[in-house]
Amino acid sequence: MLVSLVDVLKEASAGAWAVPAFDCTEDLMIRPILDTCEAQGSPVILMALEHDLVGRGFDYIASIVRGVAPKYSVPIVLHLDHATRPDLVAKAIDYGFTSVMYDGSALPFSENVRVTRQVVKIAHAHGVAVEAELGKVAGKELDGSNSGDSQLTDPSEVLDFIALTGVDALAVSIGTAHGVYASAPRLDILRLKEIRNASKVPLVLHGGSGTPLDQVQDAIRNGIAKVNLYSDIRAAMLRGLKTAVANENRIDPLPDQLFRPVKEAIARAVESKIAMTMSGNRVKAANVKAAKV
Ligand SMILES: [Zn+2]
Repeated sequence: MLVSLVDVLKEASAGAWAVPAFDCTEDLMIRPILDTCEAQGSPVILMALEHDLVGRGFDYIASIVRGVAPKYSVPIVLHLDHATRPDLVAKAIDYGFTSVMYDGSALPFSENVRVTRQVVKIAHAHGVAVEAELGKVAGKELDGSNSGDSQLTDPSEVLDFIALTGVDALAVSIGTAHGVYASAPRLDILRLKEIRNASKVPLVLHGGSGTPLDQVQDAIRNGIAKVNLYSDIRAAMLRGLKTAVANENRIDPLPDQLFRPVKEAIARAVESKIAMTMSGNRVKAANVKAAKV
């Protein structure tokens, strides 16, 4: 069922586990993610990036997720990831996304506050939750370019940012990066504790792929309630595709023959993320209300 981000994050925060959040672009990814989460009793956040919403992306992703969500018993959030433009947020609201991330991390603090507050006003008027970012998680971007150094979240800015914007969740920069790591990151848990002490708003870890399990779980125990994952799923897709090609003899294989290994590889990756976020068997505990759809 489709639910609000606020309710599912509240449950996760209270139980010291996190909701895995997967960027996905189409049925080939959405189906194994949801089937695996259903089998494991894990709430899940499906996210779409601007990159994937061009053309008919909004039509396809929103239609698929909203169409199939009522068939699943696990809570499902449909989330816009890393929107840097308020008009994209408005479009996502029109398409029935249940939450949005406005990413003003490239802006100075006061500008980030100003635009985030504007987005919160629009989104909350429609019952849609908002995640914002304070500090900057950099790394490998979707086009393979490097977005420079991350800027760690300053704990002394957190209380003001939350109070001035009214956001429902906050992405923090504590040592992770987007994309594939050259060497394992070291999370600044002390900084995370200071952020947690400043505000009880649920915190979000971007760049979850490749981050060692013990560090992610340490972060979850200290306030992270949503872990964003994309690179590890993409790497799993490539492994599945290579298996499919290696095993295929037909010149005209059936779609299922081609895509089953991809879906199975995604499913295994999702299982490992559910174990990492400790989100399995939470559905009975997740006393979440269905979103207005
Ligand atoms: Zn991110």
